[in-house]
Amino acid sequence: MELIKTIDQMRSWTESQRQAGKTIGFVPTMGYLHEAHLSLVEKARAQNDTVVMSIFVNPMQFGPQEDFATYPRDLDRDCRLAEGAGVDVIFHPEPGEIYPQYPPLTAVEVKGITECLCGKSRPGHFTGVATVVLKLFNIVQPHRAYFGQKDYQQLLVIRQMVADLNLPVIIEPVPIKREEDGLAMSSRNAYLSPAERQEALALSQALQMCKNMYSNGELRVSLLIEAMKARILQEPSAVIDYIEIRHATTLAPLTEITGPAVVALAVRIGKTRLIDNLLLEGN
Ligand code: AMP
Repeated sequence: MELIKTIDQMRSWTESQRQAGKTIGFVPTMGYLHEAHLSLVEKARAQNDTVVMSIFVNPMQFGPQEDFATYPRDLDRDCRLAEGAGVDVIFHPEPGEIYPQYPPLTAVEVKGITECLCGKSRPGHFTGVATVVLKLFNIVQPHRAYFGQKDYQQLLVIRQMVADLNLPVIIEPVPIKREEDGLAMSSRNAYLSPAERQEALALSQALQMCKNMYSNGELRVSLLIEAMKARILQEPSAVIDYIEIRHATTLAPLTEITGPAVVALAVRIGKTRLIDNLLLEGN
């Protein structure tokens, strides 16, 4: 496995692979890898000749009061895990390599699907995400790129950008990977104390409860949300950022579930903000 830190070197590697007729699968990450990241790699491996993973904690997608400085980082461990999973190249640029001028004067703003959910509580977040992903696509020039459904709104934003800007890359979604007890895997789970880790189970349990109610015929969004709220607020350190049910592709608000819907929530457990979601595809 190669570790590449500069844009020039990354571009030459891509050029040589493309000249040899090889396809490139790309897995963008912020590092501190866990099994979910490796499930993205596994899908990329199966569909491409080569796999590039980027590890870049992108300052542009963090708000001023957020955890950019303290976000967990461990490059040596990441390299070992990535190599074991079959990654061919880790692209790990310094912030100054990606942003010679910060903030950049050019940014990608996806409208319509970024004002709600995480975009509401994290203003500018999706502009930071879309901008860095476009930059990474321009540098790595992959045939396919892999995004987890855990960050559901992010996946929609990237798909919209790719469609609107005619980017020559196929976006492949990967299902949410969970711990055995249901907690969605996340690098931020490392922040949780043992007691908080237990409380964090409320997120996946609330979603599961919503799914059961829906399967039993409850289609009224307000009632489903009330039930999830009540479950989450049983936990002493839980503070709800949002719990919403929206149309699965447009993210339009719903009062009743009549078609594909996403149940999305963001909850603070102590100082850690966790997100999770569930797709309801129709009864
Ligand atoms: P991150 O390093 O948190 O930016 O995540 C990198 C990629 O891994 C993103 O496409 C995430 O959606 C995906 N990912 C993170 N956690 C999970 C998970 N539990 N299940 C599926 N995909 C995930």
